[in-house]
Amino acid sequence: MNSTRESSPSETGRRIIRRTRRFGLSALVVFLLAISMTSVLSCSESGEEGASGAGSAEKMKVVSTVSPITSLVENVGGTRIRLEGIVPEGVNSHTFEPAPSVATVLAEADLIVLNGLFLEEPSLEMARANRKAGAIILTLGDKAITRDQWVFDFSFPEGDGHPNPHLWTSPDLAIKYADLVRAELTALDPDNADYYAENFAKLEERLNDLDERIAAAANTIPPENRKLLTYHDSFPFFSTRYGFEIIGAVQPSDFSEPSAREVATLIDQVRETGVPAVFGSEVFPSPVMEQIAKEGGAKFVDQLRDDDLPGSHGDPGHSYMGLMASNIQIMVPALGGSADAMDGFDTGPVFEGESNALYPE
Ligand SMILES: [Zn+2]
Repeated sequence: MNSTRESSPSETGRRIIRRTRRFGLSALVVFLLAISMTSVLSCSESGEEGASGAGSAEKMKVVSTVSPITSLVENVGGTRIRLEGIVPEGVNSHTFEPAPSVATVLAEADLIVLNGLFLEEPSLEMARANRKAGAIILTLGDKAITRDQWVFDFSFPEGDGHPNPHLWTSPDLAIKYADLVRAELTALDPDNADYYAENFAKLEERLNDLDERIAAAANTIPPENRKLLTYHDSFPFFSTRYGFEIIGAVQPSDFSEPSAREVATLIDQVRETGVPAVFGSEVFPSPVMEQIAKEGGAKFVDQLRDDDLPGSHGDPGHSYMGLMASNIQIMVPALGGSADAMDGFDTGPVFEGESNALYPE
C-alpha cells in the first residue's frame, strides 16, 4: 500500500474524486487512500486530536456503505474518526457490487458499518473476507428492529425472505442507528467516549426536532391525500410513523419494470384513491411511473430520495437531515399540505470542525 504515497494529491479530495471518475474504480481507490493520508496530515495541522492526546494518525478507521448511514456515522464520530463510504451516491444500492479494489479499503477498517437486512450482501461478503483481526462489522438494521418488526411488501416480498431495509427513513430508527454507532465507537475507542456521547446527544436532539417537524408537516396534508405511491418501495417505516397509507410501489423485487397487468392495477388505484401525486426518484427513472401518474390523473414527481443525499459533500444539505428535509419539502406540498414546519431546520453537521469523511460520487 505504500506505493500509493507517490500519488499524494495537492488538491481537495472532492476535486480529485471528480477528476478521477473517468479513470475507473481502481484508480479512484488509489486516490482515496492518498486522500485519507492527506486528511490525516491536515487534521494534525489543525491541532484536532483525540481527547486522550493520541495523535490523529491513530484515529480509528471506519468504513460505511450508503450515504445516509455515512452521514449518521459522520455526525457521531465527528473529527475523531477517519470515515469512508463505499457505495457511490446515485447508484442502486440494492444491486451494488463493490469493485475488487474496495477490499483494500475494508481491510484497513477498524469498524465496518452496514445497514444489513440483506441490503448490501456483496459488500458484507467482501467485508467478512477481508477484515483485519479485531475489526468489527456492525449491521444496524439487524440490531435496530427485531425479526417480528420486519416489513415485507411489493418490492420486498416475504417469499424472497429479504425484508424492506429502508429503516432510516424514519428518524426514530435513525436515532437507534446513531446510538448503535455511538456504542461501537465507544467500545473500540473509549478514550473518546465523551466526545461520541456529546455528538450523539446533539444528533438525537436534532433528529427528535426533525421528527416533530415532519409530523407537523404531515398533519397539514388533507387526510384523504395522506397516501404514497412510490416507484422504489422505500417508505414503509416513514409511512407507519407519520400516518401515510402506502397504496403501492411500482418496482418489483428484481428491479425490473412491472408487468402490464400490474401497471393497469396501479392506474386504477391512483384513479380510485384520487391521490394528487405519485413519486419517483432520480436514481430509478421510470417512464412507466410517468404513465401511471398521467393515466391515473395524478402529478408525477420524480425527486424523492432514499439513499442519495442532496447536493455534494460540503453543502449543508448533503446529510441525512438534508435528505429527509428535501423529501418532506417535495412530498408534502405535492399532496396538498404545507412544509413550512421544515423552515429553519438545520441540516448541517452537529459537530465543530472538518470530518474529512469521504463520500464517493
Ligand atoms: Zn432503496
